[in-house]
Amino acid sequence: MSKLTFFGGAGTVTGANFLLETTDMRILVDCGLVQDRRVCHGCNYDDFKYDPKTIDVLLVTHAHLDHIGRVPKLVHDGFSGVIYSTPSTREIAQTMFHSGLSLMRREATFEGKEALYTEKDVERTMRLWKDIPYRTEFELAPGYTVYAKDAGHILGSSIFEIRHRRPSGSRKIAFTGDLGNSPTPLLKDTEPLSQDVHYVVMESVYGDRNHETTMKERSDAFKRVVAESIARGGTLMIPVFSIERTQIILHELNHMIEGGQVESVPVYLDSPLAIKVTDIYRNYIHNFKKHVQEEIQTGDDIFDFPKLKLTITREESKDIIYKKGPKIILAGSGMSHGGRIMFHQKIYLGDPKNTICFVGYQVPGTLGRQIQDGNKTVDIFGKSVKVRAHVETITGFSAHKDSDNLIRFIEPISETVEKVFLAMGEPKASLFLAQRLRDYHEIDAIVPTQDQSFEIDF
Ligand SMILES: [Zn+2]
Repeated sequence: MSKLTFFGGAGTVTGANFLLETTDMRILVDCGLVQDRRVCHGCNYDDFKYDPKTIDVLLVTHAHLDHIGRVPKLVHDGFSGVIYSTPSTREIAQTMFHSGLSLMRREATFEGKEALYTEKDVERTMRLWKDIPYRTEFELAPGYTVYAKDAGHILGSSIFEIRHRRPSGSRKIAFTGDLGNSPTPLLKDTEPLSQDVHYVVMESVYGDRNHETTMKERSDAFKRVVAESIARGGTLMIPVFSIERTQIILHELNHMIEGGQVESVPVYLDSPLAIKVTDIYRNYIHNFKKHVQEEIQTGDDIFDFPKLKLTITREESKDIIYKKGPKIILAGSGMSHGGRIMFHQKIYLGDPKNTICFVGYQVPGTLGRQIQDGNKTVDIFGKSVKVRAHVETITGFSAHKDSDNLIRFIEPISETVEKVFLAMGEPKASLFLAQRLRDYHEIDAIVPTQDQSFEIDF
């Protein structure tokens, strides 16, 4: 018998951290930050409830902070095993650690704390990190292999199928990480699970909801917002997340501008992190959809177009204000809570010619959410700012499968799978999905709670 414990990502979306203990080895899957509005959520500083020194292997599904954010702390606290992920996940993770470190240092100093980890911890972490490509069975230890499938969520995102070869026959457990809202504009679709999987640990962020906007509707809405903003001669601000959302928006703008659907105006990508991540995307075009690869083979850089400016330094960012006439600014953070977008909002929100367009979920309490909710005055850096700009929200950019698609994903193995653990969701979402899986598909679906362990035949 083996043991599976949910040390994070149970009854909550963030902080993914699952431990699989067999008679031979201890495998950890993901080691993410618990996130709310602040990076430095207190519990991220807590000791791990297992001894990091005893872990042999860490598998990383993808490079979002709620899956990787505590990895350098794990290393700091004694982990010295091997970390495995796809090569692009490793590259993005390294970029995220460095960027997270500077943000954390600022927040931690403000709160009178130390940052969660040091530069040295990041260096040691990256030395332990090894690449595994998609679709190749890879040996973790004698008798144990892992196989990475494309989850279609962000670049490099994986579903891990771990196999234990025993004299009595093979046993398999799958960890889905986050599952992409396929079809998406850039990435390949989520690969299906193998038919011989016995256990699945599956995400359930949207377990109780369906996305109502199609890719076409979303794209049309975005085009309308861009065209109207240009026609008014104003500035269009788009708060963006650095991974995936930025690249999708750049790709759409590339189409609209090079296809002559909207007038070519200056576009600023005002986020050093997003610029770095976009460069990593460029190196992995073989992970894109076939038709996107063909587009690139015709010679088009899908993330570049006339009048796109990458502003890396603070000075370049500040100079954007001197550009007169219609323009578009993409800047972080995606929830308008910190990051350069705050400076732009302070300058541009007061003018009715301008527009702010939200393309992602805004957590209650964030500045983005206050603007989205229609507040007429908001506080930015202690100054009261009037909101006279147009406020637009485009839904359907979600990077997660909705309830129906989560069911479609698991349904093909409903006859053979022994247990499905629904993790990475609010209890309401996970419980609703569990009920649907039990009632309509006769799947033994379980919603684990924080720190809960299960004996599994693995
Ligand atoms: Zn994710």
